[in-house]
Amino acid sequence: MPHRLLIATGNPGKIREFRELFDAHVDSQWKLVAPAEVGLRDFTVVEDGQTYAENAGRKARSYSNAAGLPALADDSGLEVDSLDGAPGLYSARYAGEAADDAANRAKLLRALANVPTERRAARFRCVIALAFPYTTNVRLGEGVVEGSIAMDERGDRGFGYDPLFGLPGGRRMAELDVAEKNRISHRARALADAAWALNSMAQTLDKSS
Ligand code: IMP
Repeated sequence: MPHRLLIATGNPGKIREFRELFDAHVDSQWKLVAPAEVGLRDFTVVEDGQTYAENAGRKARSYSNAAGLPALADDSGLEVDSLDGAPGLYSARYAGEAADDAANRAKLLRALANVPTERRAARFRCVIALAFPYTTNVRLGEGVVEGSIAMDERGDRGFGYDPLFGLPGGRRMAELDVAEKNRISHRARALADAAWALNSMAQTLDKSS
C-alpha cells in the first residue's frame, strides 16, 4: 500500500512537476497529496531563513505537523553570477512581496540590461526537505541546473524564470514539456539526491503499519 506524502507548496507549477517526477522516477511507495486535498489550501510558512535548507526544512516540518502526514518541501531559486548570486533566496519576491513571475522576470531583464551574453551565466538551485510529523529531524537533497539568462523571453511552459533561462543547447527552460524539464531540472536532481531518504521513510512506515 502506498503511503501519503504531502507536497508542501502552494505553487501549482511545482506541484505539477513533482507529480510527474514521482510518476516517472519514484516507484509507487508514495501517493502524493497537495495541500488543498487536506484542507491546507491557504496555509503559508514564513520563509525568512538564511539558507535554502533552512526554508525547505521549516516548510516540510510546518506542513507535516499541520496535516499529520510526512511532507516534502522544496526551496529553490535562480542565482545569477554577475548579480553576485541574486535573486537567490529571494527569487519569488525579487520585484516585491506581491510580485508575480512576469514582474520578477522584467526586473531581472532590467538588472542585466548592460550585461553582455558571455557574462549572463546562471543556475537554478533546489533543496528538498523531507519530514515526519512531530519530529525535528529533516532529511535533505540538493540539485542544480546550469544555464544563462537570455536577452528576451521565449516559451510558454514551466513557470517563474523559465522563459528567460537558456540551456546549453540553446533552448529555453520554458520550451521544454514537463517530462523533458524533469529529466534535467534542479528539482529532479534534488529529488534523486533525496531518493535514499524517501526509501528509508517508506520502510519506516511499512514496519509500523
Ligand atoms: P520558493 O522556493 O517557493 O521560495 O520560490 C522559488 C522561486 O524561484 C519561484 O517563485 C521562481 O521564481 C523561482 N524558481 C524556482 N524553481 C524554478 C523553476 O523551475 N523555473 C523557474 N523559476 C523557478
